[in-house]
Amino acid sequence: MKVLVSACLLGVACRHDGQSKFCPAVTAQLTDHQLIPVCPEQLGGLPTPRPACEWQEGRITDRHGEDRTAAFARGAQEALRLYHLLGCEAAILKARSPSCGKGMIYDGSFSGTLVPGNGMLARMMLDEGIPVYTEDEVEMPQEQAE
Ligand code: SF4
Repeated sequence: MKVLVSACLLGVACRHDGQSKFCPAVTAQLTDHQLIPVCPEQLGGLPTPRPACEWQEGRITDRHGEDRTAAFARGAQEALRLYHLLGCEAAILKARSPSCGKGMIYDGSFSGTLVPGNGMLARMMLDEGIPVYTEDEVEMPQEQAE
């Protein structure tokens, strides 16, 4: 099946700091599936690198106080469009990201503090009933973990 994956987990250098967050467990565990890499923040028109952003009182702002909610929403909608267009059946998203995080996200203080919540894309997908996982829920196959 086709699985939409946060592009940074597949080694694409699309994160706010210009780096990737390659997760070998994702590619190792999903060899029988077609992985579709997507970065919603880039799809929303944000540059790479870009200032780190966090949720604050229902909005997404960067560390300089600029409101980036509209770009995040646009990018999440475009990622969702690709999900449906390409016939994906599940998503694996980067944990804790203001776009991709599921279950826990940073609290807006830029101090590394986590609070319950979902990133923009994760919440849109969950609202549609799409199966969403983070890389923390994907385990390395036993023979490769040793
Ligand atoms: Fe990775 Fe998602 Fe952030 Fe893009 S928006 S860098 S895919 S966590």
